Amino acid sequence: AADVALYRSKSTGRGNAVFYSSDIDSEIRHRRALEADLHHAVQRRELRLACQPLCRASDNGCVGYEALLRWVHPVHGMVPPDVFIPIAEESGSIFALGEWVLREACATAVHWPDDVSIAVNVSPVQFRSTSFASVVGAILAETGLPPERLELEITESCLMKDRASALTVLKRLRSIDVRIVMDDFGTGYSSLSNLQSFPFDKIKIDRSFIAAMDRDRSARAIVRAIAGLGRSLGIAVVAEGVETAEQRRIVVEEGCTHLQGYLFGRPVVVGEAAKDGRLKGSA
Ligand code: C2E
Ligand code: MG
Ligand code: MG
Ligand code: MG
Repeated sequence: AADVALYRSKSTGRGNAVFYSSDIDSEIRHRRALEADLHHAVQRRELRLACQPLCRASDNGCVGYEALLRWVHPVHGMVPPDVFIPIAEESGSIFALGEWVLREACATAVHWPDDVSIAVNVSPVQFRSTSFASVVGAILAETGLPPERLELEITESCLMKDRASALTVLKRLRSIDVRIVMDDFGTGYSSLSNLQSFPFDKIKIDRSFIAAMDRDRSARAIVRAIAGLGRSLGIAVVAEGVETAEQRRIVVEEGCTHLQGYLFGRPVVVGEAAKDGRLKGSA
């Protein structure tokens, strides 16, 4: 709990300016230390892959898993991705981390039944590197995972800076049969034109809409609209963050084709045992 407090903004510190600034200093020092540690995380084998099931709405059958990165820090323990991914993006460690996740995810999934897919999150920094598509191709070749079983989850921020080259990358990935997923849909910019301009196979509705549905009717209307959009475009729509049976009932009624969330399973750390189809540990 003490570690978690360090990650939080200390903007509540009022009055004593000296105390306030030393607080910020210590936060900056902590971040720099994490940045340095992160640089060695792959080599020191501190990264873990956690997998969370993705289910079909029609019968709750598991169609795949999303790979979620975990960092087990030797001192601070489990550092959440929302903390270390932004640090990795700033420092450049994201390239090594991203390749590790891709390789580990593909090497794990190749041992699963051939109708079970693996989804990997891609950082905009990684996505914009000129070698990204060839790195993906090389890892598929190396691990032997059929490309159509790999889904790459990208967010709208991947598409913002340079739309023309983003389209080129997506087309290259598509041409080698990798699936492309729009993650956290509804929270970024110009969502609708992105769906028209870029070739997505699947949309994931951000879990903030699912969480807000019971107290906010407009959240449910947005879920309905996105599901309708997916239906018209002929692509799958996933409801993220489904935690209760009531949320499940609503998102299915509104037309979501796939479901993900604690109701179906939390992310579970996979290890060597996963390679014979058994999942181990928890995250
Ligand atoms: P995301 O890709 O949207 O992943 C879904 C997040 O929602 C995961 O958090 C997952 O544990 C959480 N989640 C799933 N079901 C539920 C639920 O029912 N309730 C709640 N409250 N949460 C749920 P996690 O693992 O902490 O990851 C957070 C974010 O970090 C991810 O969001 C993704 O943007 C990023 N991330 C994780 N792994 C990687 C990675 O390997 N590479 C990159 N670039 N980003 C990653
Ligand atoms: Mg994701
Ligand atoms: Mg998401
Ligand atoms: Mg997210």
